[in-house]
Amino acid sequence: MSSHTPDNNRRRFIKLTAASLVAAPFAEVLLGGTALAADMVTETDPMAAALGYKADATKADKRTDTTALCSNCTHYTGKPGEANGPCAIFQGKLVSANGWCSAWLKKAA
Ligand code: SF4
Repeated sequence: MSSHTPDNNRRRFIKLTAASLVAAPFAEVLLGGTALAADMVTETDPMAAALGYKADATKADKRTDTTALCSNCTHYTGKPGEANGPCAIFQGKLVSANGWCSAWLKKAA
């Protein structure tokens, strides 16, 4: 008799489904952490370099408004108080809340 009877196939399907349900949350944590780290804009990124992006705004030599920060830029969608958040100019990649680049535009009050 074959080992691939409908009963065996059903048991195998149930085992695989159960294993997937158990493993899914761990996979998300592992992949989520990696994706977050990879999503930070670096100063050496070609577009960041072209825009003079600095994670520490005080290090940006073209910045003339000392109050200008990513956190008060219209392109920034991070939550208040968080260290970094998404920037529309960098296609949603994360920038430092205390950063700055030449595309800075004051957020409307
Ligand atoms: S566009 Fe605004 S939020 Fe984005 S990096 Fe430049 S200053 Fe920061």
